Amino acid sequence: MDIDLSFNAMTMTAKQFGEMTKTMMRETMVATGGKKVIDKITAPIWSWGQRNSVYPLHFGIACCALEMAAAGGPRYDAERLGIVFRSSPRQSDVLLLNGWISAKLRPSLKALYEQMPSPKWVIAMGECTISGGPWYDAYNVIQGADTFIPVDVYIPGCPSRPEAMIQAFNMLNRKLTAENRGSFLDD
Ligand code: SF4
Repeated sequence: MDIDLSFNAMTMTAKQFGEMTKTMMRETMVATGGKKVIDKITAPIWSWGQRNSVYPLHFGIACCALEMAAAGGPRYDAERLGIVFRSSPRQSDVLLLNGWISAKLRPSLKALYEQMPSPKWVIAMGECTISGGPWYDAYNVIQGADTFIPVDVYIPGCPSRPEAMIQAFNMLNRKLTAENRGSFLDD
C-alpha cells in the first residue's frame, strides 16, 4: 500500500483506508481467535440463508425452458422452495441452462456467467445442454455446457420434467449444506 506520510498526518484514499482496515481487522481476529468464534456462530446462519434462497437467472434457451416455466407455475410453485427467478445476472446465484447452446450464443452465456457474483452455480437441464442432444456432433452446437463453464448439477431428459428441475435444486441445496459456507473473513 502506497501511503503518503507527512509530519502529523497520514493521507490515503478511501480505497487504501478500506484495505488497511480490512487487513487490520483480519489480523486482529485471527491473532485473538475471534475469527473462529464468529465463524462458529455465523456459519450456520449464512449457510441456512444461502441454501434457502438460490436465485436462478430467468433465462430460457429452448424447449426445456418451458419445463422451467412450468416449475415456476402454480402446480409446482418452485418459489415456495426459495427458487426465485431473477432477471438480472447480478442478482442471481444459479445459471440454469435449458436448451442447445449454439456457437453464436456461447460468448453471451459466458458473459452472463461472469456477471453473476460469487459464489455461483450452474445447472445443466436437458440433453442438449449436457451433450448437444439431438444435435450431437453438429458443427454449430456446443457439445456440453461444461466445455466452457463449470456445471454443478446435470438434469438428464428430453425434456427434463419440472419435478427433475426441483430435484436438481434439492441436490444443490444438499451440496451447499455439506459445504457449510459462512466464513466471516477469508482465511
Ligand atoms: S433436451 Fe429436448 S426438450 Fe430440452 S431443449 Fe433439447 S430438444 Fe428441447
